Amino acid sequence: MTKAVNDKVVVKDYFNATGFDRWRRIYGDGEVNKVQRDIRVGHQKTIDTVIEWLEADGNLSNIMICDAGCGVGSLAIPLAQAGAKVYASDISEKMVTEAAKRAQETLGYSNSIAFTVQDLESLSGKYHTVICLDVLIHYPVPDAAKMITHLASLADSRLILSFAPKTFFLSILKKVGEFFPGPSKATRAYQHKEADIIKILQDNGFTIKRTSMTSTRFYFSRILEAVR
Ligand code: SAM
Repeated sequence: MTKAVNDKVVVKDYFNATGFDRWRRIYGDGEVNKVQRDIRVGHQKTIDTVIEWLEADGNLSNIMICDAGCGVGSLAIPLAQAGAKVYASDISEKMVTEAAKRAQETLGYSNSIAFTVQDLESLSGKYHTVICLDVLIHYPVPDAAKMITHLASLADSRLILSFAPKTFFLSILKKVGEFFPGPSKATRAYQHKEADIIKILQDNGFTIKRTSMTSTRFYFSRILEAVR
């Protein structure tokens, strides 16, 4: 078995077990500890930035969006609320089930989000915009490169990615114990050099349009919008 497969299996198992419980709470509105609250606030800023960018373009109701690694639907649901058609998928069945439940509660039974349980590398089709937030942190550079290349092949006009930038490596390393305390909750966190990500995007025919950075005490996410 290759290392890449190992990473994916570990990540999938994690988000169907302890990771599911942990992140469902962080991406919710119930009681959480201080570290989790900080991550919740940071993550929400990332979501808000992306929604702001897309709403500013004024064409949300005309475009099809692929949300790859959708988690519990934190992005897909507000995008659908804003009028977009969303194809949302995640490698974790538990996350997708929770996302579909939240979508039903917020948007009603028939809504404009199609959910599937799928590894993002097995996604097919064409979308105006492909978005992949806070997923690359789970994969080392060679795997992340393959994933970005695949996502780029699905995107007709735009690809939006977020990742933990390499510059914050040490501070993240220090906090990793708090992100994933105890061996049973362990999964690895990988940081990426912005220059590497931009190079992959350029090699796939994209240029960078907008960028943003979300930093809180325990959450760091660089957001890039790449367009054809
Ligand atoms: N993008 C969501 C958000 O920002 O709210 C969720 C972020 S969460 C930190 C990472 C998510 O990526 C998890 O739901 C996990 O199951 C999913 N994931 C990890 N590897 C994946 C892969 N190879 N294909 C699809 N989803 C993946």
